[in-house]
Amino acid sequence: MQKGWRMLAFFDLFCYYECIMQFHIVTIFPRILDSYLSESIIGRAQKSRIIEIFTHNLRDYTTDKHGKIDDTPYGGGAGMVLQVQPIYACVEAVKKLIAKKSKKTIVIGSKTRIILFSAKGKKYTQRSAERLAKYDKLILICGRYEGVDERVAQSIADEEISIGDYVLTGGELPAMVVIDSVTRLLPGVLGNDASSKYESHSRKNYKEHPQYSKPASFNGWEVPAVLLGGNHGEIGKWREKN
Ligand code: SAM
Repeated sequence: MQKGWRMLAFFDLFCYYECIMQFHIVTIFPRILDSYLSESIIGRAQKSRIIEIFTHNLRDYTTDKHGKIDDTPYGGGAGMVLQVQPIYACVEAVKKLIAKKSKKTIVIGSKTRIILFSAKGKKYTQRSAERLAKYDKLILICGRYEGVDERVAQSIADEEISIGDYVLTGGELPAMVVIDSVTRLLPGVLGNDASSKYESHSRKNYKEHPQYSKPASFNGWEVPAVLLGGNHGEIGKWREKN
């Protein structure tokens, strides 16, 4: 077999396997995350098929003849609410897609978690990222406007996540936060898998020691002498203390 064909056969075999993690983003702005997700570590994790990211446009799932996906809140009040019908239809379609893809591939796992982003959800932490990294598929529902019909939280999502005590315009940034923080915990994503084990928040109340790089002196700002001495015992003690 010529080298090119051998490579292609190997690639086909490789594609036969599912990646470690699939992210499915449900959003009304499917292009909004493109540039961030295609660059750097997340971009490379997709190229090496450790993760796959799919975006699903909520507007494709509405039964409204004008393509509406939001309406006014019952009981009155400001703004519009994302309706339950298109979210239900979209999530059901995603589940079918997952099942269909799984038939064509050797499935590594089938644990799926459905997450709704909400400013009033449970606070996202490094522990949450570690917990979510154990799933194989994450379906991430991004709210907009005044929020999402409560029946999505009650009957469709497995959990509601808030990334902090502030209000964003939509759930797309939270989705990106989850994708980024979960992806870097997956095997093979960081050059050195050990690096995520010793980072800030990897243990309760743990914050990484300060880091310095060349030059040793800049603008009169000096790197601590202990780091320049090459005594690994002393460096270890300094890092522990700091
Ligand atoms: N009216 C809602 C409230 O007071 O809680 C805020 C709605 S917000 C403008 C629109 C959407 O952005 C939310 O449905 C949610 O999906 C997302 N969002 C806003 N802040 C968030 C946060 N801190 N964490 C997660 N998602 C958030």
